[in-house]
Parts: sequence; structure tokens; C-alpha cells
Amino acid sequence: MKIVVAVKRVVDANVKVGAKSDGTGVDIANAKMSMNPFDEIAVEEAVRLREAGAATEVIAVSCGVAQCQETLRTALAIGADRAILVESNEDLQPLAVAKLLKAVVDKEQPQLVILGKQAIDDDSNQTGQMLAALANLPQATFASKVTIADGKATVSREVDGGSETLSLKLPAVVTTDLRLNEPRYVTLPNIMKAKKKPLETLKPEDLGIDVTSRLKTIKVSEPPKRSAGVKVADVKALVEKLKTEAKVL
Ligand code: AMP
Repeated sequence: MKIVVAVKRVVDANVKVGAKSDGTGVDIANAKMSMNPFDEIAVEEAVRLREAGAATEVIAVSCGVAQCQETLRTALAIGADRAILVESNEDLQPLAVAKLLKAVVDKEQPQLVILGKQAIDDDSNQTGQMLAALANLPQATFASKVTIADGKATVSREVDGGSETLSLKLPAVVTTDLRLNEPRYVTLPNIMKAKKKPLETLKPEDLGIDVTSRLKTIKVSEPPKRSAGVKVADVKALVEKLKTEAKVL
């Protein structure tokens, strides 16, 4: 059984980003880039399933600029067997990525596709759902546990105040939530091994997909700066301020 895992190159979660001065987007020039954290969880889960004998091959796929190769090498170092880069310099929006992944799914015929629940740069939470719709596959989003047996995936997903368990007929799409697993540390020997693993590069044209943007960003702005707080002398003064200034009482 093959598993395809989608991995996105995003600004590292520890980098504090801001809006560009002209408001046309987020300033990520020279920012450290890493694998989207939910995708690390997705790769870890796929590798664990292979290690447990539930899968035979894990294929990591990334769509974007040539530097996504670094992200794919990280996936290979975690334990993916091979990688596919769909290279494009366009600003790839979730629908375009879902179409590219659908084309890869058609080509590779995996039994399971694992994506992150959301990319921490665009916070879209759309790609997995769109892929499932385009490929006409059952989906389980926000997975906190995945088991594979008898041609089915059993997925627990976090819902308000509890957990829901779904059974999906394979092939299926699963998106990962934070509690699914804790990704392993990538060791130096595995980074070295990853350099030798196969990485294929395709273009959207090779897959017959038009990735033209459908959305236009009108403006990106930062939240208003918080003004400094004040110390009040006593409870009476606090209540007074809450009534007259904050107007919350
Ligand atoms: P989003 O819908 O943008 O929040 O992304 C959800 C998930 O889709 C991510 O966690 C990735 O697994 C996958 N994904 C989104 N964009 C890409 C991309 N450019 N390349 C590979 N996977 C992606």
C-alpha cells in the first residue's frame, strides 16, 4: 500500500513575520523556511504506518519553488521513500495545489493521502478537503488517531468536547491534527541517507494543470498596536474606569 504525503514549505513557526510596508503581502524576505508543522506530523504518521507493516511506500509531494526540495529532503530524512516536487514559481493557492495533488494521486494510485489540517502561512484549511472532493475520495479531517486494517482506515477526530471515530473505505484522504503524534528528531545519518533517495521534479504543465490564481490579495495589514496599560490606585478607580473609559460595565 502506497501513502502519499503532502508537505508545504512555509515560514518557520518561530519566525515573527509582519506586513510589507505597502500592504501587498507578508514580508518573508530572508525568513527561515521549514516544513509546515502539521505536515511533519503527516510524514511521521505515514512512516509509522510503513514501519508497522500497514504500508509499503511513502511518497512525499510538495508544490512550489525549487527550494521546496529542501522540505522534501526533510521528509525523506524522517523516513519517506521518495519524493515528487511539482515545481512552479506561481503563488499556488489551495485549489491549484489540490488539483496538482489530484493529478499525482491519479498517477501514483495511493491507498492513503495524508495532508496537514492547515498550512501555518495561509491558514486556509482547504487543500485536503478540496483534494478529497476532486478525487472523489472519502475524507477524515483533524485526525488524532489513524489505524489501517482490512482495506479501511479508522480515524479518531477531535470535535467540540470529545472525539468522533470514523471508518473510511480506502483509498481515502486524512488531514492531521496536533495530537496525532510527536514527530521524531531527524538524525544526521538519516539526513545523509535522504540525499540519496529519489526526488522527481514535474511541472504543472506535465500534469495538465492550470495553476493560475483565482484570488487576489487586496490588502494585508497588521493588528493595531496595543496601548500601554495603566495602574489604578484601588478597586473604586478600576470600576470607575471600566464604566467611563472601557464602557464594559
Ligand atoms: P491549507 O489548505 O493551505 O491550509 O493547507 C493544508 C495542507 O495542504 C497542508 O498542511 C499541506 O499538507 C497541504 N498543502 C498545502 N499547500 C501545499 C503545497 N504547496 N505543497 C504541498 N502540500 C501543500
